[in-house]
Amino acid sequence: MQTNFSSAQLADPHVAESEKILRKCVHCGFCTATCPTYVTLGNELDSPRGRIYLIKDMLENGRPADKEIVTHIDRCLSCLACMTTCPSGVNYMHLVDHARAHIQETYKRPLLDRLTRAMLAFVLPYPQRFRAALKLAKLGKPFIGLFEKVPALKPLAAMLKLAPASIPVASPNALPGVHAGQGAKKGRVAILTGCAQSVLDPAINDTTISLLTRLGVEVVVPPGEGCCGALVHHMGREEAALASARQNVDAWTGAIDQGGLDAIIITASGCGTTIKDYGFMLRLDPAYADKAARVSALAKDITEYLAAFDLPEPVRKPGTIVAYHSACSMQHGQKIIRQPKELLAKAGFVVREPREGHLCCGSAGTYNILQSEISARLRDRKVKNIEATGASIVATGNIGCITQIASAAKLPVVHTIKLLDWAYGGPKPDGVPEERGRG
Ligand code: SF4
Ligand code: SF4
Repeated sequence: MQTNFSSAQLADPHVAESEKILRKCVHCGFCTATCPTYVTLGNELDSPRGRIYLIKDMLENGRPADKEIVTHIDRCLSCLACMTTCPSGVNYMHLVDHARAHIQETYKRPLLDRLTRAMLAFVLPYPQRFRAALKLAKLGKPFIGLFEKVPALKPLAAMLKLAPASIPVASPNALPGVHAGQGAKKGRVAILTGCAQSVLDPAINDTTISLLTRLGVEVVVPPGEGCCGALVHHMGREEAALASARQNVDAWTGAIDQGGLDAIIITASGCGTTIKDYGFMLRLDPAYADKAARVSALAKDITEYLAAFDLPEPVRKPGTIVAYHSACSMQHGQKIIRQPKELLAKAGFVVREPREGHLCCGSAGTYNILQSEISARLRDRKVKNIEATGASIVATGNIGCITQIASAAKLPVVHTIKLLDWAYGGPKPDGVPEERGRG
């Protein structure tokens, strides 16, 4: 694509980066076919190519964002299916991240939208605030129907609907500490405790720590870890995202300096995509660029780490039929495709892949709150495809997808690590039917 930026514009490294990305796009439109919003809404401006044109126009003319571009960029899930499809290697992720930061800087949203976003940014990345908000949400649940009738209050209704009926107790494993591996030491890793996941399902990390330590891996929870920054990053709140990234880089650099790390284990693929991008996000910060690149290189999804591990034979082979839902951040963001399925199959599960596996479930960070109608359409389509597999469990590697799919599916939806832990001697995950295969 031809671009027309002035040399003064290109002196801004963010513009220069976006210009490089724009030039790679050859307008072929292959990406439209796999874009969930184009598939759902059928509008070219809700396709990757359409958004790329809108972003190009906004940046080239150096103008503030307007209502039209905000509408279509807000509808983008950042699912990155377009990047998987694009034959020209267009880095849509970095382009849309830049567009979102530009929107945040130059566009004044309506008051309620601003308040909703400010509240999400204030609450979600902080486990204690999020826990308190979930308790409050119980009081608001009877008013969901009322809030749904007022367009500006739909995000509130969506939030209340997603809030779980009961909140698990906080796990001590989220506190800083070292979990020694059993037997001969096979490795040393840090684990991201994260934010929302540690409140919604602390058993995911508890299970991960249990399995890794049984395998002889020492697991460190370094002091100072926090939210990865993805939630605010996708809202264009760049400074807040970079502050989270720096805080985590400091925490993990400390752990690297005190005994080395083989990997930084991440159990939520949405976080993994962002942490693997820290090197890019902090490239312009001389104090952090190298450290951030090192952290990104060490970041591994738990299934990526286990796939490269010399695993013993499973203790049991449950034989249960599992529908594996590959989160967008797993398959498109990190290109982790075969490892989770192979691990599940090796552990004795019968793995089935739902149709349209490339399409997002509609979770996408805060998307299911801020764009609840499109999100619900994508969720229902996903659930239909999952239920058509005939599976009795759904496995996936991202808390956002677990919450989203579970809100409509009749099957239990569990994190992949819980099934693996079960097969390798851990307890049966809650809600999962009894094994059908060999004991
Ligand atoms: S990130 Fe997803 S929703 Fe956004 S343009 Fe690409 S395919 Fe479409
Ligand atoms: S597939 Fe790639 S090159 Fe083709 S229009 Fe989409 S982003 Fe541009």
